[in-house]
Amino acid sequence: MAYDLRRGRRSNAALPLEITEQRRCAVLGCRRQVEVSEGTGLARYHCRYHIQHKSRHGSHWHSTYKASDLRPYVRSAELWIEEHRQSPAYQASYWQLEHLMAGAGPVDPATSLRGQSANYRARVAFARLRAADIPTRRIIAIYLGVAALIEDDFGSHRTREFRIVQAAKAIHRLASGTHRHWDVWEPRTGGTRKAELHVYPRSSGHVLRKIGEALEKACDELARPAVPEVIAMRTERFGPHPSHPPVAKAS
Ligand SMILES: [Zn+2]
Repeated sequence: MAYDLRRGRRSNAALPLEITEQRRCAVLGCRRQVEVSEGTGLARYHCRYHIQHKSRHGSHWHSTYKASDLRPYVRSAELWIEEHRQSPAYQASYWQLEHLMAGAGPVDPATSLRGQSANYRARVAFARLRAADIPTRRIIAIYLGVAALIEDDFGSHRTREFRIVQAAKAIHRLASGTHRHWDVWEPRTGGTRKAELHVYPRSSGHVLRKIGEALEKACDELARPAVPEVIAMRTERFGPHPSHPPVAKAS
């Protein structure tokens, strides 16, 4: 890196060199060039593939958790809620989410969302949860379950962004489709057959973050005391997370 010594700061002449420098993506094992070197974007530390990965999953390298990874944590969170339904912290989360869904406006069919802002789409996602009669306590259990899994999995990516995006994806899965049924005329037989369409628009990274931020705002105070207890309940009922080293048995 060249410095203009007389002025004591980096000289402009050094800039083009720095930008054209071939730099590799910071993700372990990735051999691709960073976006600025590839000329595909502005990212200076990651390649295009891993930038898009982060947008979709909330992490440059960690993929989205499967429902089966999440299940023991959500189940434990439900049991935890059972015992803490009257607590002020739970009540605060509950009413904040109820308020959010009540004010979310009408449910737009999934197909008419094109061109709408991320804020609008996030609001529709909450309106869909309301329309699908998803219980508020289930939404809270999922948020707590996601937070507990990320805390308990030694191989997880423990960042706020991963947590909110993963929570949003798990919630979004509950009610994200528009289902249509209709009859199709079959010329060969002269009869009709049933056809159906499931539209599951994949939420953009922006929308997922808006959904996740709203969930975090409602549930994060509650998550602080709940997460260690949810992890303890999960361990007691289902055993430790597979990422934990095996405990040597006393002989
Ligand atoms: Zn990469």
